[in-house]
Amino acid sequence: MTTTENLTDEQHMTGGERAAARGAHYIEESVSVYLMRDLAGTNTWVIDPANFDVALETNYDMPSNAECPCAVPEECAEIRHRMHFAPTPDGEELMHMLADALGYTVTKP
Ligand SMILES: [Zn+2]
Repeated sequence: MTTTENLTDEQHMTGGERAAARGAHYIEESVSVYLMRDLAGTNTWVIDPANFDVALETNYDMPSNAECPCAVPEECAEIRHRMHFAPTPDGEELMHMLADALGYTVTKP
């Protein structure tokens, strides 16, 4: 089975199911990406440059393990705590994360 087929299969799984299939914990976080009205006044949303060169703000007070199906809550809590201190990406790093997840190759002229 190729990586693409694995990804397709995994698209139908919950995050917790994907983690369990790999023997991992499912720890989730959310970040905000700021949009702003196009400065040309076209009434469309564009990326706010404030997203770059600083870690994106998290939307949770603490990463969540609420959907982790593991049976080792102490270990899960420890990893959740560790992830609380893991740096979040800035906008450019998030772009690369999205590109990798979707199978795109990013190039810069
Ligand atoms: Zn867990």
